[in-house]
Amino acid sequence: MSGPAGWRRIAGCIISLAVAAPAPAQGSQPGPVTAIRAGRLVDPDAGTIANNQVILVQNGRFTAIGPDVAIPAGAQVIDLSNLTVLPGLVDTHNHLALTYKEVPERNIYYLTYVLDPTPLRAIQAASNGIQMLASGFTIVRDMGNNGNYADIALRMAIEQGWLPGPTIIPSGLIIGGLGGQFSPTPEMAMEKKIVYPEYLDADTPDEIVKAVRQNALFGARVIKICVDCKPWGYTVDEIRLVISEAAKAGLKVEGHCQTEDGVRRAVEAGIWSIAHDRGMTDENHKAMARKGVFRAGTETPITLTGHTTAARYENTVAMLRNAWENKVALTFSTDADYYVPGKTRGEVAIEFIETWKAARIPVPDVLRAMTTMGYKASETERTRGPIAVGMWADLIAVRGNPLQDIDVLRDVQFVLKNGMVFKRDGVMTPGAFFNGGPVNGWNVR
Ligand SMILES: [Zn+2]
Repeated sequence: MSGPAGWRRIAGCIISLAVAAPAPAQGSQPGPVTAIRAGRLVDPDAGTIANNQVILVQNGRFTAIGPDVAIPAGAQVIDLSNLTVLPGLVDTHNHLALTYKEVPERNIYYLTYVLDPTPLRAIQAASNGIQMLASGFTIVRDMGNNGNYADIALRMAIEQGWLPGPTIIPSGLIIGGLGGQFSPTPEMAMEKKIVYPEYLDADTPDEIVKAVRQNALFGARVIKICVDCKPWGYTVDEIRLVISEAAKAGLKVEGHCQTEDGVRRAVEAGIWSIAHDRGMTDENHKAMARKGVFRAGTETPITLTGHTTAARYENTVAMLRNAWENKVALTFSTDADYYVPGKTRGEVAIEFIETWKAARIPVPDVLRAMTTMGYKASETERTRGPIAVGMWADLIAVRGNPLQDIDVLRDVQFVLKNGMVFKRDGVMTPGAFFNGGPVNGWNVR
């Protein structure tokens, strides 16, 4: 196609390098004003709470916040005077298009990968995203294992205005050496390329560069690598190559690390964030704190039976505590990519606060990890997250005080996303999010 549509396609590619999200069409002219009366308003960064605040929202963004803000005539008023309002939560490590199960695959995702086609996984991702948003997660970093770019399809669908969901920071395919996290047979690995698209094989410098460019081209907002999924893994220089190539597209790099040496190499290379806690030590934490590396420890709680062991959990709790004592940049992350009967995906994710409680992390610091630190790791802190004038209007409300009792986050009563009400009085009311077309623009990668 030529003409205006072709031009838009090119323009979209250029714009996507410069900004985190396309500007919705709704920002083009002044829209109606929504006024929220907040009984209490939490600032997680400062660890403070203010009473009786008025928050104005217009065209999807916060326009005024304070105790004496006048409510314009004709504004729609939302009364949350009995609730505590706070910014939305962030899960810095999830896989919304992956849902492995006890039956039939004994919680091993080989079978999911073989049996669930990408279109089905994309629909799972849409459902899981809605479930996360209902639990107050307004941002999710989605770190691969999503079939053939179902995570990026989810990001685009939410941004374009097809359905509600968190703001997705997707990685696209996980880049690793031959085999990824799998251990395929020679014939399946070499002749059938069995790990693709669950993993993107990249063993040599040329392959690494090509893999990063592939993910960037298809709409990744972060690059995810397997640092040490195999004993050889990536060297410091190879990780540096990933980081420098990703930087050309404006992308940061997260490393999956499962060994002490893997963490050491990733930190030395200057990686942005490290996933999982198996390779964490006091020494690695000190290095991470020195370099400001975000920690996405994915601290599985013992209450999610079958997903950790008593010994593993004990170490997880001890290392989370050690990371906090070393002032590491802590984020809240779950890796909650499985089905727990009786729980939504959001309820599984919020369950991870149990580990933070067990590690005796002060409640304001847990809340900071779930909000402020998450925005920074997601690189949204200047566009989305904080409840501040000019930011996209995302917020949640709960009963009680989340600076004193983190468990109040288990029962999110109200969710606002892009200035639209998604949940009210504890019930999802997502009608405003569904549209018969891409109301916020299309084909913006
Ligand atoms: Zn993961």
